[in-house]
Amino acid sequence: MERSFSLSIGGQSVPGDRGTFAVINPATGESFAECPAATPDQVNQAVAAAGVAFRSWQHLADGERQAMLEAIAEKIEANSEELATLVTLEQGKPLDLARFEVGAAVAWTRATAALAIPVKVIEDTAHKLIELHHRPVGVVGSITPWNWPLMIAVWHIMPALRSGNTVVIKPSSLTPFNTLRLVELINEVVPPGVANCVTGEGGTGRAITANPGVQKVVFTGSTPTGQDIMRAAADNLKRLTLELGGNDAGIVLPDADPAVVAPKLFQSAFLNMGQTCAALKRLYVHESQYDDLCERLAQIAREQKIGPGLEAGVTFGPVQNPEQLALVEALVEDARQQGAKVLCGGARLNGSGYFYPPTIVAGLSNGVRLVDEEQFGPVLPVIPYADVEDALRMANDNPNGLGGSVWGKDLTRARALAQRLECGTAWINGHGEVLPHCPFGGHKMSGFGVEFGEEGLLEYTNPQLVHVCK
Ligand code: NDP
Repeated sequence: MERSFSLSIGGQSVPGDRGTFAVINPATGESFAECPAATPDQVNQAVAAAGVAFRSWQHLADGERQAMLEAIAEKIEANSEELATLVTLEQGKPLDLARFEVGAAVAWTRATAALAIPVKVIEDTAHKLIELHHRPVGVVGSITPWNWPLMIAVWHIMPALRSGNTVVIKPSSLTPFNTLRLVELINEVVPPGVANCVTGEGGTGRAITANPGVQKVVFTGSTPTGQDIMRAAADNLKRLTLELGGNDAGIVLPDADPAVVAPKLFQSAFLNMGQTCAALKRLYVHESQYDDLCERLAQIAREQKIGPGLEAGVTFGPVQNPEQLALVEALVEDARQQGAKVLCGGARLNGSGYFYPPTIVAGLSNGVRLVDEEQFGPVLPVIPYADVEDALRMANDNPNGLGGSVWGKDLTRARALAQRLECGTAWINGHGEVLPHCPFGGHKMSGFGVEFGEEGLLEYTNPQLVHVCK
């Protein structure tokens, strides 16, 4: 890569005092650029700078912060091709999907700019006025994953800034460049210290969660890391929003039309090579349609053009990192040994890069690792059922509870079933769509708190009751 990147601390671009680390292009398996590595001291400097900036940022007129978010959206849009190329280089997804990610980042920034924090009048009588206001929490630490790195950074940063907080973000060390660039762009708009970015391998995230100057942590990533963050947050009672793993189930009812639902199911499961928190990760299909639907899904999988994301016409990129690829391989191998049938794919491709074809696995049930554990990659287990109550029981028999879906023509029946799924979002005839005006979050081990919409914005605030004795 031609250009180099710096940390953003207090509005300054600075090198990492710990040197640099290599970032791998998953399409080649080789390093393509060096990323600055921050020391814990630099993380503390970023938090201190955010704390200083918070003093005035929180009191800025609401309309000014709104206008700045709109200006940031313009900046992202004006630099979309550079950002999309960075996302493809470090994350692996096809360029068109990276362009979609940048477009979503722009749309989310604009939608967040348009949100407002309401003041609720609880009582207004002759003797009393009681209002519920919301105040920003302070410095927000944001820790993001490698699957949708730019979009998730925007999901964390924009509501934090909109509601009057300042931010220190630490992107995944596997995909740091797009976020470093994003924060550079944000810094062209906001005062110094309002948005800071520190990058580094192991320990950089912990330096944020351990810092008493951070009042809230917003985290998207794995459940074990979420648990670690929750423990670290206890010392100064940091507020938390945890968006953790999912193992979303879909139930196809007997009245669904396989020809209609198959392409949508495929897209729901394999978007971003299956590396999406709210992807469809287990599919329960009535035995009357089981073989037909499995074959349709396998056929769509065989039609994908697999290759490097920057290559024209590619529809399916690599898995982002070798650990994730090894997990997918291990889960498919285990399923094979348990007697499951791999209908297509099922082995990594030879050559450099972390390529694994879209894989459909049939003839298995709950109790097999591929069904019980989150695969977070390009493989979908399809499980037959005879009785819909059994399908519902199997769908709910999982520690995760991010999303779930029901597919069928009778919407009343589908809706009644969907509302019995133990998860934060229940889709009907769709799966995984998230929208900037709709709160999104998990139940059970998938985390707590919501993102997006007014409810998501309020997560970056503390309620303050103003009680006036007239
Ligand atoms: P992690 O949860 O390990 O990493 C996510 C982010 O947290 C990264 O920025 C990481 O930094 C940081 N981090 C790691 N450990 C700590 C810690 N103790 N304290 C603070 N921050 C920390 O996810 P992985 O990338 O390892 O992916 C593993 C699994 O997580 C996947 O298999 C998938 O199941 C799930 N996942 C879920 C996602 C979702 O959208 N819900 C997204 C990505 C993964 P660093 O880069 O230095 O490791």
